[in-house]
Amino acid sequence: MARSADQFRPTYWAPNGVASIDFDALRKRGLSRLLLDADGTITQICKMVVPEDIAQNLRAAQDSGWEICLTSNAHLWFMASRIEKLAEILKCQYVAHYWPYPTKPNRKALKKAMSEMNGATLGNTLMVGDQFGTDILGANRLGILSIWVPSIEPIPLWKKITLEVINQRRLRALGEIPEAPTRVC
Ligand SMILES: [Mg+2]
Repeated sequence: MARSADQFRPTYWAPNGVASIDFDALRKRGLSRLLLDADGTITQICKMVVPEDIAQNLRAAQDSGWEICLTSNAHLWFMASRIEKLAEILKCQYVAHYWPYPTKPNRKALKKAMSEMNGATLGNTLMVGDQFGTDILGANRLGILSIWVPSIEPIPLWKKITLEVINQRRLRALGEIPEAPTRVC
């Protein structure tokens, strides 16, 4: 039981989401390359809007030397263009994973996203995402640090009875998780 729960254990969690993460403090710990999930983490599913507080924090991180690559399971090729547009908004790299290529949590999917960033190594790359079964499991398989954030989705009923229930059960199973460094707003 402990072993199966541990593969979903993030290094940190950020209860107030991406906007609250202190990327400067993380940079001082040797991290400077960011694999960033899209849906639920920086935008709502099917939406093209990144909330301003999230965009602002990511811009500040980029100004201080962070490189960012969006890594999103787009499922089908025609859904990839949305991820490209989100990357344009954030002025960052992106990889949309879709069939028949590897998708998260496959190590190859995250390695591909890492290869889009200059000098990304297992030691300096951080994964941030809202799903234990894709983002955090993938980061742990790869051997990189990770931050789990609660989804910014208004949660629809179908998700409440599937993904969110699974997430909440995993959170309970994981017990105490250290909080990510938080910036003063
Ligand atoms: Mg997500």
